[in-house]
Amino acid sequence: MRPSYNEEAESYRQKIQAFLGEHLPPNWSGLGALDEDSRETFVNEWRSLLAENKLLAVSWPEEYGGAGLSEVERIVLAEEFAKAGVPEGNENDGFSITMVGNAIIQCGTEEQKRQFLPRIISGEDRWCQGYSEPDSGSDLANLGTRAVLDGDEWVVNGQKVWTSSGHTANWIFVLCRTAPEAPKHKGISFLLVPMNQDGVDCRPIINISNRHDFNEVFFSDAKTPKDHVVGDVNDGWRVANVLLGFERGHGATTDAVRFRDELERVRSVAQDRGATTDPLMRQDLARAHSKVEIMKWMGQRQVTSVLAGNPPGPESSLHKLLWSEYHQWFTEKTMHILGAEAMTPSGAQAAHGIQTDAIGAEFSALAWVQTMLGARPGTIYAGTSEVQRNIVGDRVLGLPREPRADSGPWNEIGKTN
Ligand SMILES: Cc1cc2nc3c(=O)[nH]c(=O)nc-3n(C[C@H](O)[C@H](O)[C@H](O)COP(=O)(O)OP(=O)(O)OC[C@H]3O[C@@H](n4cnc5c(N)ncnc54)[C@H](O)[C@@H]3O)c2cc1C
Repeated sequence: MRPSYNEEAESYRQKIQAFLGEHLPPNWSGLGALDEDSRETFVNEWRSLLAENKLLAVSWPEEYGGAGLSEVERIVLAEEFAKAGVPEGNENDGFSITMVGNAIIQCGTEEQKRQFLPRIISGEDRWCQGYSEPDSGSDLANLGTRAVLDGDEWVVNGQKVWTSSGHTANWIFVLCRTAPEAPKHKGISFLLVPMNQDGVDCRPIINISNRHDFNEVFFSDAKTPKDHVVGDVNDGWRVANVLLGFERGHGATTDAVRFRDELERVRSVAQDRGATTDPLMRQDLARAHSKVEIMKWMGQRQVTSVLAGNPPGPESSLHKLLWSEYHQWFTEKTMHILGAEAMTPSGAQAAHGIQTDAIGAEFSALAWVQTMLGARPGTIYAGTSEVQRNIVGDRVLGLPREPRADSGPWNEIGKTN
């Protein structure tokens, strides 16, 4: 099964391939082949080149800095970039373009589109996500960060946590409670808050791989203008879910490319080290092959759905479950190939803190261990596996919803402190 792209999409594919041929060095084998210092320089220069050539956020309308192309063409670009091992942007662009940019396009005002979208493309604004709090993760609607309107400004107080790439962002989209007396899903607003102000304090959290990938963010009378609310006041739960659909569905068409590349690299090292003579290892590699093929087919089913004009739906939870659980299992198997070396690993750092290492990466025991550790939170962020299974049960299979005891006013039922 392969989705059939229309003629425009195929001619756009050729254009992208020509762009890559023109701008990548002749011996290019992927970002992972560069050393650590060169990677950062490459990503920054590459992003500027993409912005200049209208190759960022290609499906956004031209008046906001996009290329006015279809979602299908966006997918074609993502596929070709994944195959070439080049990024679609910098580390904040997942939050800036895929999440808040798309949410503003779908739910924001004309003024918000004109103010925020071009600044995302130019790189002036880099965004991060202020959803989770110490007492609200899976039960996100229990959040307690308060925003109160004071004249022409919102005044925000509270705390967010696990804020990925918050230290490289200058804006944060924040779910805030604006009507504590309302049922918990109905008293939330989606605010756009500048981070460069005294009322916002972004503190690092060092993770299990000894990396600084996420943070906790404190708001103490932080201010943002009254009109920086996306959707209506108290309509933030709807906007939050529109954004989550983009977040969970985004990699469906390209993940299999990266997981396939990783599997090939692991298989090659296993073979060189004689590990493939072990029948259990052979069985695991065959299982990994099957999983990555299923991932590819699921991605292609999603493309087929997009080609038919459908937005990403709750089925993206199936994809999230598949890749995150597969990757935890598979990266543990890679530790058997390393053996004792996994206890004192050396070599180059992994290019990414989470998911697979970058395409083109040479073998490094340290990067393999970091990738194994980085796979652990895969079943937590963007919604835990249990939450994805609940979504699949309720919204894909149409099973009866789990009973809820929290439909009253938030300040009586949901408030935990
Ligand atoms: C690497 C990483 C990056 C992250 N980046 C961000 C970010 O940038 N911005 C942001 O806002 N958040 C971010 N998060 C937070 C993430 O979204 C939350 O950790 C996640 O939603 C789970 O919430 P929690 O940690 O509070 O766990 P809890 O919700 O407390 O869950 C604890 C356990 O209970 C289970 N559970 C909870 N409710 C149910 C239920 N109804 N049915 C069955 N089981 C249930 C969960 O599955 C889990 O096993 C990040 C997390 C990680 C690990």
